[in-house]
Amino acid sequence: MDWIRLTKSGKDLTGLKGRLIEVTEDELAKHNRKEDCWICIRGYVYNVTPYMEYHPGGEDELMKAAGTDGTDLFDQVHRWVNYESMLKECLVGRMAVKPIANNIYVSILYFLFCSYDWFQTDSLITLVIYTKQKDMNAELVIVDCQDKRLRGEIIVDDHSYLVAVDLDHAVSEDVAVNIAEKVGKVEIIFNKKDNIHWKMLGQPWEGHNTFIKRTDRGLFYRKCKLISKTEVTHDTKLFCLMLPKGTHLHVPIGQHVYLKQIIAGTEVVKPYTPVLPFLPLNFQEPSHHDGVHIYLMIKIYSHGLFTQALDHLQIGDYISVSNPEGNFKKSQVQTSEDLLLLAGGTGFTPMVKLLNFALTEVSCLRTVKMIFFNKTENDILWRNQLEFEIQFILSQPTKDWVGKQGKISSSLLSEFVKRSRSDSKVLICICGPAPFTEQGVQYLKDLGYSQEEIHAFTA
Ligand code: FAD
Ligand code: NAD
Repeated sequence: MDWIRLTKSGKDLTGLKGRLIEVTEDELAKHNRKEDCWICIRGYVYNVTPYMEYHPGGEDELMKAAGTDGTDLFDQVHRWVNYESMLKECLVGRMAVKPIANNIYVSILYFLFCSYDWFQTDSLITLVIYTKQKDMNAELVIVDCQDKRLRGEIIVDDHSYLVAVDLDHAVSEDVAVNIAEKVGKVEIIFNKKDNIHWKMLGQPWEGHNTFIKRTDRGLFYRKCKLISKTEVTHDTKLFCLMLPKGTHLHVPIGQHVYLKQIIAGTEVVKPYTPVLPFLPLNFQEPSHHDGVHIYLMIKIYSHGLFTQALDHLQIGDYISVSNPEGNFKKSQVQTSEDLLLLAGGTGFTPMVKLLNFALTEVSCLRTVKMIFFNKTENDILWRNQLEFEIQFILSQPTKDWVGKQGKISSSLLSEFVKRSRSDSKVLICICGPAPFTEQGVQYLKDLGYSQEEIHAFTA
């Protein structure tokens, strides 16, 4: 908030009195000191010296990119942060040259992997995207069609192919998506509003018909309606959001979305991990996404910038929700025999879909165990739904607590994290406050678990 205030004070934060300049690599390199620090992100150069003391990661982290292109570093740490909005008063200008090699590489990839075609009948428009991806599925296809704007994104490993046009004529909001999984063909079908013959699919927007790295694509948001808000514990609520009619989006297991709100005139973005509306009873049948609702279990912090604003949303209000992100792969569980989940507080959220999937759809699993760390009994999320093998550990228990207590430690983990057989294939997933996760991973490594056997959920 202090930073937002400073940017609105009218002070000259670049030292250029509002002028924008073209910056060469040599010029950028000269500004590499704390008191004169420029950083390039995605071709734009910012003077970050005034921002230094407000950077949550500290000055040293920012200085790692001083006088250079910090895009990769930025993407590794917090690519969802809307730096364009936060640093708009620090913009110095654009880099002078664009990397040409990257564009050639992108074009070659695009021709190798994806293409599109379209055809029409009197009442329908069918867009066909050929991806050559053998195991194409609904989670890899994200479609948004509102008014006359169509955006279809297909995920192909760490790349994405985009079709983005202003359609030639209006279509109704119902969009059907058909996927031929084995050949990687995706059909997106729209109903024409009037039975006019279309001359073209539409006018392309920037990024149309490109195949590029997902991290270079930028996040796309659509507005979702808040349908309900129910209490889970004294400070945590389950938010149910409804996707717009023309959106096709499934959030894969272990992935998160970003929510975006304007707070005090500035865009603020935070990640959240969708859960299910509840855990299925006895896990007899998998609980599937209905394709319409997204459920988020969110702790409201009394001094939290984003969660306080979220808590003030009324039923019927809208909030922007991004495309999913995350590096967890279902296949990691599909081949495991022992699944061990270590959750701290709301670090429980990625475990919800993971548990549902593991207990209902993975046949080779012999053991599924969860250790749930919380401060107090009142903080335990969905306690009455957790009826499989679970160990609760409290760090701030009351006198009556007869269960285990303490924080994550090597001795606690050595007691609970065990292989069912000496040669069993294990997957240990861990999620919680950053220090909890970092310490947990270290203890697990000290206990002899390999990097491949551990998945830490982080940003
Ligand atoms: P901030 O303004 O960032 O913090 C303000 C104050 O709130 C802090 O000074 C502190 O007093 C308190 N506070 C904030 N965070 C913590 C904390 N972790 N522990 C103790 N005090 C804290 N959160 C969920 O509730 N549900 C989710 O499903 C979820 N998924 C996430 C997925 C990912 C990949 C990541 C990285 C985070 C996730 N989070 C989730 C956390 C979420 O993104 C926000 O960090 C959180 O909601 C706090 O935001 P805020 O702006 O309200 O708090
Ligand atoms: P909390 O404060 O209620 O604490 C939960 C447990 O973690 C408690 O047992 C507590 O003792 C322990 N703990 C807290 N700080 C610790 C530390 N420094 N060292 C060791 N143990 C510690 O937690 P919360 O408020 O529910 O926060 C949950 C965290 O999980 C948030 O930081 C959130 O960002 C993160 N999260 C991450 C993801 C993801 O996918 N990366 C998803 C959901 C939540």
